[in-house]
Amino acid sequence: MDHFSYKEDILHAEEVSIQEIAKEVGTPFYIYSTATLRRHFDLFESALSGVDHLICYAVKAASNQAILKTLAKFGAGMDVVSGGEYKRARDAGVDGGRIVFSGVGKTGAEMKLALHEGVRQFNVESEEELLVLSGIAHDMNRVAPISIRVNPDVDAKTHEKIATGKAENKFGIPISRAREVYARAASLPGIQVVGIDLHIGSQLTQLLPFEKAYTKIADLTDVLRSDGHEIKRLDLGGGLGIPYGLEDGSPPTPKEYGEMVKRVLGHLNCEIEIEPGRLLVGNAGLLVSEVIYVKKGHDREFLILDAAMNDLLRPALYEAYHDIVPVKKSSSNQENAIYDVVGPVCETGDTFAKSRAMKKCSPGDLVAFRSAGAYGAAMASEYNTRPLVPEVLTNNHEYSVIRERPALEEIIARDKIPFWLK
Ligand SMILES: *Cc1c(COP(=O)(O)O)cnc(C)c1O
Repeated sequence: MDHFSYKEDILHAEEVSIQEIAKEVGTPFYIYSTATLRRHFDLFESALSGVDHLICYAVKAASNQAILKTLAKFGAGMDVVSGGEYKRARDAGVDGGRIVFSGVGKTGAEMKLALHEGVRQFNVESEEELLVLSGIAHDMNRVAPISIRVNPDVDAKTHEKIATGKAENKFGIPISRAREVYARAASLPGIQVVGIDLHIGSQLTQLLPFEKAYTKIADLTDVLRSDGHEIKRLDLGGGLGIPYGLEDGSPPTPKEYGEMVKRVLGHLNCEIEIEPGRLLVGNAGLLVSEVIYVKKGHDREFLILDAAMNDLLRPALYEAYHDIVPVKKSSSNQENAIYDVVGPVCETGDTFAKSRAMKKCSPGDLVAFRSAGAYGAAMASEYNTRPLVPEVLTNNHEYSVIRERPALEEIIARDKIPFWLK
């Protein structure tokens, strides 16, 4: 459920007309709803009630400072995968002790930054990383709290580009080598083992892959404890999917997920961490765009929008589906049409949808991509020298621009001319 609905035929974000925002901000732009963020966060909170837990928002899904601050205010910790994200979380006021540092290629500089300012734990992905981290922590007279990310070799049954828990993926250490690697970790002077970590993929629409993986983690917890390790925390990763369209059916709810977690892992008395990204922000955001042309092609009609693959990469990258709805329902657009919906970028991959049945559109009409809050603005680029899309956050009757559209001058001024060309 979200807080984008029609009031007198105009799509609103909470109590704010999207048409009004478009007038002020110009298109394209992303818009997020505070009420939806709240709702989704609370769903996880109540799903895990009764167990000691921390919800660490996966910053990479949507990393605007205003979104981080909103979620932090609700009580979220953060899951970060780079020094940049770590700094974003810190700047949004999140205490280092509530930040989990994930990622397959952490650099020494990133480790130093997090050790210096504080970190809940590093989720270590290899023995190589373990050795570097121990060395750096030891040199700084610190001990780095760690979980080791194990790869449970479970098929997440999602798009291959966002499956991360199969043996052939680059992530984590094979679960079959876990005892050996934990023994190694325990022998290192700069390392303190605190738990186990896993993350098997994103946009999962079934509980079963999670349950298979978590069952393996439960067994591993027993084994590692009997080896003498203190396993007090289990980081279960993110990955719970959202309904983008009819084809996803209805993915499991946070409540069903929480019940399964308690059933499979509850007896271990561990603190539970989860790292949801998409489920918190996905349906809390829309991308709003204007129709530039309706172009008659050889055998089809193209709806050419002012948004493009650089603004919302998911369809080009993963063949992702997004509902596209009119911002204004009116008598003139009740007629049905079938369009290939595309952007202005010079790539055939700049296609949002093929043969999409929708209401007839005319140039100047506004449309909204639903469920665009996660991996939307965060993945945007300035390809074709198209300025990064602005972002807007609504809160009941209020709204605020939380990232401005950069001026072309600003974009061009980032390039520097070498002296020999001056
Ligand atoms: C991407 C990622 C997440 C978030 O995944 P969602 O599918 O957005 O919930 C969580 N943990 C790690 C380690 C990730 O890489």
